[in-house]
Amino acid sequence: MDLTFTPEQELLRQEVRTWLEQNLPPVARPSSTSDEAKAFDLEWQQTLYRGGWAGISWPVEYGGRGLDTLEQLIFLQEYASAGAPDEGFRFNGLNLGGPTIIAYGNEQQKAQYLPPILRGETIWCQGFSEPGAGSDLAAIRTRGVVDGDELVISGQKIWTSYARFADYQQVLVRTDAEQLRHRGISWVICKMDSPGITIRPIGDMAGGDDLHEVFYDEVRVPLANIVGGINNGWKIAMGQLGFERGTAFMTLQIELTRVVEDLIEMAKTTTVDSGGFAIEDDEYARALGKLRVEARALQAMTLMAVSRIERSGSPGAEGSMLKLYYSDLIKRVGSTAVKILGMSRLNMSVKSGRWPHWLLWSFGVALGGGTSEIQRNIIGERLLGLPR
Ligand SMILES: Cc1cc2nc3c(=O)[nH]c(=O)nc-3n(C[C@H](O)[C@H](O)[C@H](O)COP(=O)(O)OP(=O)(O)OC[C@H]3O[C@@H](n4cnc5c(N)ncnc54)[C@H](O)[C@@H]3O)c2cc1C
Repeated sequence: MDLTFTPEQELLRQEVRTWLEQNLPPVARPSSTSDEAKAFDLEWQQTLYRGGWAGISWPVEYGGRGLDTLEQLIFLQEYASAGAPDEGFRFNGLNLGGPTIIAYGNEQQKAQYLPPILRGETIWCQGFSEPGAGSDLAAIRTRGVVDGDELVISGQKIWTSYARFADYQQVLVRTDAEQLRHRGISWVICKMDSPGITIRPIGDMAGGDDLHEVFYDEVRVPLANIVGGINNGWKIAMGQLGFERGTAFMTLQIELTRVVEDLIEMAKTTTVDSGGFAIEDDEYARALGKLRVEARALQAMTLMAVSRIERSGSPGAEGSMLKLYYSDLIKRVGSTAVKILGMSRLNMSVKSGRWPHWLLWSFGVALGGGTSEIQRNIIGERLLGLPR
């Protein structure tokens, strides 16, 4: 792969840098999951839209910027080094719901749902997991029964990020009870304020409450909201998990380099038991150096995935390597930070203490979008050719 950028790509880098310098929000994104954070995210999305930077990967015909994967990488590198706001509430619509509708939706669905995502008017959530169906997603039991021109949904989802703030949910339902497992599943767009939906937040150990249980009691959804045809949802869900393990986390992966540099800066001003600053302690200095190298290795793996996407259109099973390495690395970043801070200075209010919060949050990252064990299975079977 060629690591040099063309003059056109360097020009794009400069354009992104200048735009971000002039348009970054004057205040930091609220860290809580709240109406305030939602309003902030939508407003930032509107600013991106006005600047022509909404949906950088989305095709131009659907209002996106139409950047190729390498150009997206350039955008994200600049975005991360400018310290621009996290995707937060915008993540699902921009990276999962929107791209899935682009890939599998009909023209009416594209016209109705895509522009509001780009314009910062709607928030989406993902209703895949159920109490008995997580890693084994094909075990879902939430059912959708056709009644006239509507689908009547009953059942339960769990771990739905942002559900109580979302306008729409992409929900997987079993529409043919006779068919086993991955046959007979449909991918459906459901309005979150539909009668019959009950949402209950779940508190997490990082102090947040952005996960939810969602209950459906005969929720009526137009058949026109089924994407890709009835009973075709498995193929669509797998396509979407490909985005989730491939490019959707690229922003976070790129940001990690900056986070490690922040940690190194923290170590320069934090005293440890030996009396000096953490950075002067051999053991900490070695650990921090290793994290810096690992963050660079992650960047190199991201470039490798980008190069693969450029060639074949998908990161393939290598997306699992990237997700696994990222999930492990952020845990090591969090635990090193917490060790440096030491118990006495550890701000156990995880909502305000950046590093304790980071460590606790990292455990969830290793589960969402497919657990680390599942990524190891994929790597073993599809990349290394090991038996199931
Ligand atoms: C922060 C966070 C956000 C999330 N957001 C969403 C969301 O928005 N929408 C949504 O639908 N879901 C969401 N999830 C749910 C997530 O996708 C599931 O938690 C995940 O797929 C695991 O499923 P499970 O929790 O049912 O665990 P299980 O599948 O029951 O797994 C339990 C344990 O067994 C291991 N295991 C299971 N099967 C195998 C196997 N074949 N080989 C080896 N080990 C195995 C797993 O790795 C895990 O350690 C989120 C989860 C988290 C933590």
